[in-house]
Amino acid sequence: MLPMLTGFINYGQQSIRAARYIGQSFLITLSHANRLPVTIQYPYEKLIISERFRGRIHFEFDKCIACEVCVRVCPIDLPVVDWKLQPVIRKKQLLNYSIDFGICIFCGNCVEYCPTNCLSMTEEYELATYDRHDLNYNQIALGRLPLSVTDDYAIRTIFQLPEKR
Ligand code: SF4
Ligand code: SF4
Repeated sequence: MLPMLTGFINYGQQSIRAARYIGQSFLITLSHANRLPVTIQYPYEKLIISERFRGRIHFEFDKCIACEVCVRVCPIDLPVVDWKLQPVIRKKQLLNYSIDFGICIFCGNCVEYCPTNCLSMTEEYELATYDRHDLNYNQIALGRLPLSVTDDYAIRTIFQLPEKR
């Protein structure tokens, strides 16, 4: 008789504890019900990127003088500047230029110090590829202007996330 009674008492205590936990979790759920969402439905919604965002680098081939300042200021010597000397005019002629975004840390040093302003940081951040070698952008890929999220009518743009309350 006694073990049965103890079993009933234990069962009752466990039921009360379970009911208390369910009640607590329900109260937490209720407390979140009047809060605004802190996420957006990417990729159907996108945030407007801030003005100083450091995204994919844009490069203007015609402005580059192959001085290699961008290589010297880069913490990992990343930009590849391929040039040949033109002895007649005694100037360097740029042949190829590339940056590997699989390695770049987007510090912006190259953009900051380029004497001809042929480098700039764009708002483009969707750089995912299936092959990391595709992240090595040559001058043609670097010269492509990014699409602005505001020009894409298929998505909804969000100016900023709501403040936390
Ligand atoms: S610093 Fe500017 S101009 Fe000089 S090589 Fe780099 S991109 Fe070209
Ligand atoms: S952003 Fe920084 S890491 Fe990337 S290429 Fe320029 S200097 Fe190098």
